[in-house]
This record gives sequence, C-alpha cells and structure tokens, in this order.
Amino acid sequence: MACVGKCKKEAISIQDSFSAYNAVIDEGKCVSCGACERVCPNNHKVPLNKPIYWKEGWAPDDVRIKASSGGAASAMMECFVDDGGYVAACLFRNGEFIFDITNKKDELIRFAGSKYVKSNPVGIYDKVIEKIKNGKKVQFIGLPCQVAAIKNYTKMMPANISENLYTVDLICHGSPSPKILTLALREKGVDIKQLREIRFRNKTNFGLSSQNENDEYKTITPNGVQDMYTYAFLTSLDYTENCYFCQYATLGRVSDVTIGDSWGSNQPNSEQGKGISLILCQTNKGMELIKKSGLRLEEVDVEKAIEANHQLRHPSIPPKTRESFFENLDKGFYKAVSKCAPKVYYKQKLKESLIKLKIIRGGGKPNRV
Ligand SMILES: Cc1cc2nc3c(=O)[nH]c(=O)nc-3n(C[C@H](O)[C@H](O)[C@H](O)COP(=O)(O)OP(=O)(O)OC[C@H]3O[C@@H](n4cnc5c(N)ncnc54)[C@H](O)[C@@H]3O)c2cc1C
Repeated sequence: MACVGKCKKEAISIQDSFSAYNAVIDEGKCVSCGACERVCPNNHKVPLNKPIYWKEGWAPDDVRIKASSGGAASAMMECFVDDGGYVAACLFRNGEFIFDITNKKDELIRFAGSKYVKSNPVGIYDKVIEKIKNGKKVQFIGLPCQVAAIKNYTKMMPANISENLYTVDLICHGSPSPKILTLALREKGVDIKQLREIRFRNKTNFGLSSQNENDEYKTITPNGVQDMYTYAFLTSLDYTENCYFCQYATLGRVSDVTIGDSWGSNQPNSEQGKGISLILCQTNKGMELIKKSGLRLEEVDVEKAIEANHQLRHPSIPPKTRESFFENLDKGFYKAVSKCAPKVYYKQKLKESLIKLKIIRGGGKPNRV
C-alpha cells in the first residue's frame, strides 16, 4: 500500500480479488514520476538485520490481560507514550482494519489484540512522516511488509530525522484479504460494520468472537468448536498469494524489534496460558524500547523458538487445496472450506449441532493447528 499513499495523483488503486492484491495504475492520471516504484519494498529491498538479543517475556498483569500474547506490543506502546512519543498501529473501526496514530495513553487499548486479517495502512505513512519531521518520536507497529514500507518512506531523510522512527514488526504467518472475514461473518448472520469489537483469540485459545454496538458478546461457534475462519487462517489456506513468497519470513528482520508468540517456551503451563511473547532485538534502538518497556524478561531457548515458529525460517506453504478453496469461494466461504477439508468441516459442524441440541457439552479449547 506504500505506492497508494505515495502517489500524489491518486492514480493507484488496489484490486482485491480475494486470493491476491494487485496495484493498478490509472494511466490517464499517472505522470510517470516513479515515486510508487521507489517506495515499493518489492522493487527496492529494505536491509534485513539478524537479531542481536533474544528473550521471552510478558507485560505487567494489567497490560498482559488485554493483549493477545504476552503483551509486549502493548507494554512498548504504553512506555513510548509515557516518554512523550506517538504510536502508529492497527485497530478495528467501522468494520475495517486500519491504522491510526496517537500520543494518548487511554487510546492505546484500541490497538491491543492480534487481528488475523490483512490490515490497511493507507494514509498512516504520511502521518508518521509528518510527526517525525516535526521532531516527534514515533513507534510504528505492524506486519513486516508494512514496516518495510515505512522504512522506504524514510530512507531519503537525513539521519537526525529518521532516527525518530522506531519500528516493531510481528512475526507473521501470512494474512487473508479482509473480504474473506466479511464473507465468513455474513454467512453466520453477522454484519462486520455493526461490530464494535472483534477478537481472533483469547491467549492460546484461537477463535472468533465479537461485540456489537449494544455490547452483546458472541462467539461465532460454541466453545470447543473450531470456527472455520480460524481453521483457514491457521492452516494457511486463504492468504493472498504474495504471503507464500514473503521475503520477511526469515531470521533477518526488517525492524528494530520483532515480537511474536513464544511457542517453544519452557515456562510452566500456568504462565503459558496467560500468553508469553517472543522478543527479538536487531538494533540499539530496539534495545532501548525493550529496556524501557517494563516487560519481565526471561532467557529463551533460541533453537526451540525458531523450530516452533516456521515464519522465522520460511514463508507459509500453501496447502494443495488452496486453489480449490478460491475456486469455490463464489459459492460461499463455508462451502469452499467444506470442499477443501470435508472431514474437519463436518466433524466441527456435527459437534456444533450436538452442543446446540444439548446432547454433548461445549467447552475446552480447539487446538492450535
Ligand atoms: C496476521 C498475523 C499473523 C501472525 N502470525 C504469527 C506467527 O505465525 N507466529 C507468531 O509468533 N506470531 C504471529 N503473529 C503475532 C501474534 O499474533 C501477536 O500479535 C504478537 O505476538 C503480539 O502480541 P502482544 O500480546 O505483544 O500484542 P498486543 O499487546 O495484543 O498488541 C497487538 C499489536 O499488534 C498489532 N496488530 C494486530 N493485528 C495486526 C494486523 N493485522 N496488522 C498490523 N498490526 C497488527 C496491533 O496494532 C498491536 O500493536 C501474527 C499476527 C498477525 C496480525
């Protein structure tokens, strides 16, 4: 999306075909200035740096509880704002996953939580640039490709200005078009535009839940039943094409700090259930963020951490059924999943019916796939 933001002539639009995003240039508006080409991280690679520091950890309880994992992101955001800086990150608003920037602590809660969908950074890069040009410090948190984009935005700036930008990227599996989520919810009778909040996991329990304007809380499937949106996400079925060739799914990182889940942790189950963040630092600026964050930091078994998170070694591999999923999507999201994974789909559907008929009891966690 960097090209869309950079184009002064508004000549670029993104075509979302569910399975791929493509930038389309309106040649009638284009003046061939080359700005889109220069800012694009695919055309101009951003240097990647190996981590110099590995830890796992978690935020103080009041912060950790609101976060998806150990709350490393939320802790770094809070400390940064306390120090007078701004935070730019992703939030859910009016049915969309967009970015915003703030220096108000009470607004940070809107950023907390993993949104397992491709977020839309259009507009945020210019807002970040404006702040750092005015001498403000900004912490940008996003997917690795989004961090690469903001880095390209700032690469021609004098070092004393770009120094004001601090970057945090998430270890990323890949992400589906938000149109898939809208479709999956609509087929369950939920209008995404009417939701005040949407959650994709509760710590190690992965599953969709939402709250509408009247604060009514609803899980998409009963507890213990794997919802098919989460299934498709965790099995890498529905990402856009570029994610399977992601240049950032590697140990070399694009940011000052990288965070993810510490899946290979040796901490007791009680601690793991509350969420543990994996934290990698690539630069001194990253070290500064971590040291100030108030996170409890513990040693981590680096080999185990890498083993447990394939995104640190290679991009997700598309399952053989991905093509059939997209071919069937015009018949509906659930139809498409049922064609690719009939056993999983019908087993979960049966479980859901038995729970509704009170023949079996719900509960327990659907597994992380
Ligand atoms: C699409 C996606 C795929 C992921 N895949 C993996 C993985 O394979 N392995 C792994 O270890 N971790 C993965 N993560 C990261 C993990 O889910 C947590 O988001 C991360 O560990 C931060 O947890 P936390 O408790 O520190 O964050 P919190 O304190 O809950 O804050 C979450 C932060 O992430 C940002 N964020 C959330 N969703 C998005 C989004 N869609 N786009 C941009 N920014 C977003 C928020 O704005 C916020 O700053 C993924 C996250 C996403 C969004």
